[in-house]
Amino acid sequence: MIIPVRCFTCGKVVGNKWDKFQQLIKTKTVKPGEACDQLGLERYCCRRMLLTHAELIDKILQVTPIRAGLN
Ligand SMILES: [Zn+2]
Repeated sequence: MIIPVRCFTCGKVVGNKWDKFQQLIKTKTVKPGEACDQLGLERYCCRRMLLTHAELIDKILQVTPIRAGLN
């Protein structure tokens, strides 16, 4: 859905690295593992946070009705 702010296991802040990670792997010249290295994510618990994340928020917002004032 949305990238978690911190690693579930060790608590390192990883949420601020998502945009940079996306930029790096979008070019197809940098492999996802190398992008993690460049971002300073060495532990595999932190690396999995970026490598396994599925960004679904934009798709969910398309089908979720917005009911203003009813929440
Ligand atoms: Zn971690």
